[in-house]
Amino acid sequence: MAPSDQNTQIHADDNNGIHARLAVVLPGKIFLPDSSEYNSNVGSYFFRTARQSPACIVKPTFTQDVAAALEVLTEYPDVKFAIRSGGHTPNPNHSNVDAGVTIDLRALAVVKKVDGRNDLLQVGAGAEWGAVYEYLEKFGRSAVGSRESSVGVGGFITGGGLSFFAPELGFACDNVTNMEVVTAQGIVNANNEENPDLFRAIRGGHCNFGVVTRFDIITHERTTFWGGGIRYPETTEDAQLQAMVDLKSGEYNPCVAIIQSFLYLGFQKSFCVSNNMYYLRQEEHPVGLKGFEDIQPQFPGTMRLDTTKNFALELQAKQPLDQFAIYMTTTIRISFSIGKKINSIWRAATLEIIDSPNITSVLTYQTFPPLKRNDPNGMGIDSNSELHKEHLILIISIYWLESKDNERIIKVAKDALEKMEAAAAEENALHPYKYINYASFWQDPPSSYGQATLDASNEVSKKYDPDGLFRRQAVGFKF
Ligand SMILES: Cc1cc2nc3c(=O)[nH]c(=O)nc-3n(C[C@H](O)[C@H](O)[C@H](O)COP(=O)(O)OP(=O)(O)OC[C@H]3O[C@@H](n4cnc5c(N)ncnc54)[C@H](O)[C@@H]3O)c2cc1C
Repeated sequence: MAPSDQNTQIHADDNNGIHARLAVVLPGKIFLPDSSEYNSNVGSYFFRTARQSPACIVKPTFTQDVAAALEVLTEYPDVKFAIRSGGHTPNPNHSNVDAGVTIDLRALAVVKKVDGRNDLLQVGAGAEWGAVYEYLEKFGRSAVGSRESSVGVGGFITGGGLSFFAPELGFACDNVTNMEVVTAQGIVNANNEENPDLFRAIRGGHCNFGVVTRFDIITHERTTFWGGGIRYPETTEDAQLQAMVDLKSGEYNPCVAIIQSFLYLGFQKSFCVSNNMYYLRQEEHPVGLKGFEDIQPQFPGTMRLDTTKNFALELQAKQPLDQFAIYMTTTIRISFSIGKKINSIWRAATLEIIDSPNITSVLTYQTFPPLKRNDPNGMGIDSNSELHKEHLILIISIYWLESKDNERIIKVAKDALEKMEAAAAEENALHPYKYINYASFWQDPPSSYGQATLDASNEVSKKYDPDGLFRRQAVGFKF
C-alpha cells in the first residue's frame, strides 16, 4: 500500500449515509468533504502521507460524544474508523481513513492539576505536549512527554512514548496512573485497581481496545536541566559510534539522554551528524555527556540549561514540515561493528534516493528506556531483561516532497531495514521488539510483543469488545 495522494475524491453520500446518522446524534460536530473545516482538518495532519479523505470527520467535545459516535459505528459494520489525537503518525490510514469516519479528539484537550495533588495532571488525549509543559512550568514541574511540542498526547502515550526523561523515568505510558477509556461497551476508568487488564493492554496498544479520552499522568519536580544540540561533519562518524558504544558499555547513567542522528540534508546536499543530548540535572557540561560534547570538529551548538518546554520547541523547529514521510524502526544491542554496518546500509540506501528534491534521510539511535519492575505495560518486554543497559531503539525517517517518489523511496527504505536487521541478526544483536510509535505501516509491532502478550491482549479485546467493533473497524496496527 503506498500513501494515498491528496486528490482522492470522497463524497458525503458514501458509506450508506453514516454521516447523516452521526449528524442526528452529534449535531454541529460532523464535517463533510469540501467544507472549510473538513479541508483544514485534513491539511492539519503533520505529514502529507496521512492526509486521507474520510467520508466525514467527527469532532467530539465531550467523552460522551466519543461513546455516541462508536455506538453509531456499530450499526455500520462495513465502515472503518480512525482515531486521531495529534495526527503525527506518517502512516497512511492510521489516524485518518480514506472513505471512513475519522474521530478527531483535539477538542478534548483539558490540562489541569488533579484537585489537591501537585504530582498528578489530567490531560485530554487531544492536547499537545507543548501545552502540558507550558502549564507545568508555572509550578516548577514537568512530565514524561514528547520531545517535540506539537505531538499529540493520545497516540504518544498509547504507543509507549520516548521522552527526554526516558533513561531515568521509562516510557511515558508507565508514568500514567489512570486512563478514561471509551470501550465498545461504554466509558470506563483503567488503572491498576479498576480494569487493570485493559490498563496494561492499552499501554503499547494504540486503539485496539478503546479510545482513551483522558490520561492522569505523574508529574515531576523539574525546572531546568542541561541539554541542546550539536552538529558535526560526517567525518566524525567513527568517533560518534564509539562514544555511543562507550556510553552503553559503561555503568548505566540514568541522567544521560542521547538522540544521535546521522543525516542527509537534501537542501544542503550533504551528510552530517547531529546529537541532541540532555543531562537531566542542573549541571553544566557534565562528565556524562563529555564523550559527545567533546567530539571535534563540530559546528556551534545550543547546549545550555533550559526548560522542557524550550527544549521541545527547539526540536520542533528542526522538523521537516509538510512533506511525505516514512518512519521505520528496529531494536539492537549496540557494538561498534554493528553500528558501522547499519550506518553503511543506511548511507547506501540514502544515495539511491538523493535525487528526490529536498529529501531528508535520518538514522537515529536512542537508548531503550528502563521498565517498571512491578507494573508491566502491554509491550510484552520482560522487565528483568534490562534492555536499557545495552540496547538502542533505531528510527529511520525519510522525508520528501513529491508523491511520485512515494513508491520507490518506501521500497528502498524497506530493503535497507531488512538488510540492517539481517546484519544485526548475524551478530546476534537483533531484538524482536518494534516500537509502535516509530513503526512503518508494513511492520508488525503487535507481533513483536510475543505470543503470550498477543494471547493476553486477545482476551482483553474479547472482554471489553465482545462484538469486535475495534477488531473489525478501527484502522492502524492490529493485534
Ligand atoms: C515531529 C514529531 C516528533 C515526534 N517526537 C517523538 C518523541 O519525542 N518520542 C516518541 O516516542 N515519539 C515521537 N514521535 C512519534 C509519535 O510518538 C507518534 O507518531 C505518535 O503516535 C503521535 O501521537 P499523535 O497523538 O500525534 O498521533 P496520531 O497520528 O493522532 O495517532 C497515532 C496512532 O495512535 C492512535 N491513537 C491516537 N490517539 C489515541 C487515543 N486517544 N486512544 C487510542 N489510540 C489513539 C491512532 O489510532 C493511531 O494509530 C514524533 C513524531 C513526530 C511527527
